[in-house]
Amino acid sequence: MKDVIIIGTGLAGYTAAHYLAKSNLSVLMLEKSKTVGGRAQTKKISGQYFNMGPHAVYKKGEGAAILEHLGIELHGRSPKLSGEIYEQNDAYTAPFTASGLLASSYLSWKERKEWMLLIMRLSSMKIDDVPQQSYEQWIESNVRSDRVKGLLYALGRLASYCHAPDIISAKVMLAQVKIALGKVLYLDGGWQSLVDQLHNKAVLLDVQIKKESNVQQICTDEKNGFKLTLSNGEIIYGKHVIFTGEPQALNQMLDIEHPYRDDLSTMKAVKAASLDVALTKLPQPKRLFAMSTTDPLYFAVHSSYAKLSEHGDSIVLHCLKYLRPSEQANNEQVRIELEQFIERLQPGWKNEVITSRFMPSITVNHRLPRANEESPLLQSLAVIPGIYVAGDWASPHSMLLDGAVSSGRLAAEHIIREMR
Ligand SMILES: Cc1cc2nc3c(=O)[nH]c(=O)nc-3n(C[C@H](O)[C@H](O)[C@H](O)COP(=O)(O)OP(=O)(O)OC[C@H]3O[C@@H](n4cnc5c(N)ncnc54)[C@H](O)[C@@H]3O)c2cc1C
Repeated sequence: MKDVIIIGTGLAGYTAAHYLAKSNLSVLMLEKSKTVGGRAQTKKISGQYFNMGPHAVYKKGEGAAILEHLGIELHGRSPKLSGEIYEQNDAYTAPFTASGLLASSYLSWKERKEWMLLIMRLSSMKIDDVPQQSYEQWIESNVRSDRVKGLLYALGRLASYCHAPDIISAKVMLAQVKIALGKVLYLDGGWQSLVDQLHNKAVLLDVQIKKESNVQQICTDEKNGFKLTLSNGEIIYGKHVIFTGEPQALNQMLDIEHPYRDDLSTMKAVKAASLDVALTKLPQPKRLFAMSTTDPLYFAVHSSYAKLSEHGDSIVLHCLKYLRPSEQANNEQVRIELEQFIERLQPGWKNEVITSRFMPSITVNHRLPRANEESPLLQSLAVIPGIYVAGDWASPHSMLLDGAVSSGRLAAEHIIREMR
């Protein structure tokens, strides 16, 4: 019998656990997998540290501030925003930095002016003043040049991983772009460094963590609050529950009527295909970053800024395709597309491969934030009194690490207030 049972040991779960345990509440975390950390885990494959696709911490996001407040150290370096922009098969210097803007032939002088004014406008923009519309509607009514529009669409994908400008909320997307322009961090040792620190500190705070514990059902229990049934038949009681798994799964496990069934079941995930590669060396050492404005493709060499191999001397890069919601892509074709994009940038790379991993469709964020989405669940985080949600999908105005960590803290704060 615990004060709080947290389902899931990702960033949201650990953040909540820290705040709860620091307030002297007893906490049990249940994790269905053999390992903790969820999508923030880094796998060591042949001595190379592979995050689950390209992972960067947004330095100006609320997640980084909360983690630092919890005493989590973020060691790593910020990549330069310089690199290349592809339009179909043609490569141009990316105009994302002052020198890139001067050097790039991608934009005419008139377009450069429009782009510069837009970036300045973005940096001082108040997100609350952005109308309730999709990112596409915002771009179409605020930008003239097709190439500047293309850059904004690409920057939006880079900042949010969403390839659905016609659906995603302009407010959320512009907030993401603003945060991403404030620099990102690639972490030494990958995001596992976050997971390890959060885990070790949680253990010191007396948080109990149980792996291979798959919660299948939650029902109310008159005497004890909530009764959780695991897939192995084990029963666990708790006064409060925080759920951090995928929204649709909560509907299946809740044996209690609640008003958010439709909200949970209609949430669409943000998905991507990622090819993670380790090389002995880069055939073209200066080509470290590229995006396409015509295809939803991304390429970046993360090991140029963070230590991502055992001996620190090999190359770890990520090539990613942003998928449309519900896109049924042909896995083999996507893999070829990603390999060809790498070949364009790093001809002959296949001769240098140490190891690689292809994930054809991985969930980046459990909710694609839609324009006009005003679910009271995202404001209160309580499905019913006592059962809270947290995770990258559970925050109304942020997503990814920021959404996970901030909703973890909020859910914990609600419970702390209730218990007092
Ligand atoms: C390719 C890719 C690139 C990304 N890049 C970035 C980036 O650059 N910047 C950024 O900020 N974010 C990025 N992200 C997103 C980031 O990784 C996630 O938003 C974040 O890790 C989510 O944390 P979470 O705690 O919400 O969920 P998760 O990490 O998914 O944790 C949920 C946990 O709950 C467990 N669980 C689920 N159901 C049950 C159950 N029934 N019983 C017990 N346990 C259960 C799961 O096993 C899991 O461990 C990226 C993600 C991907 C996939």
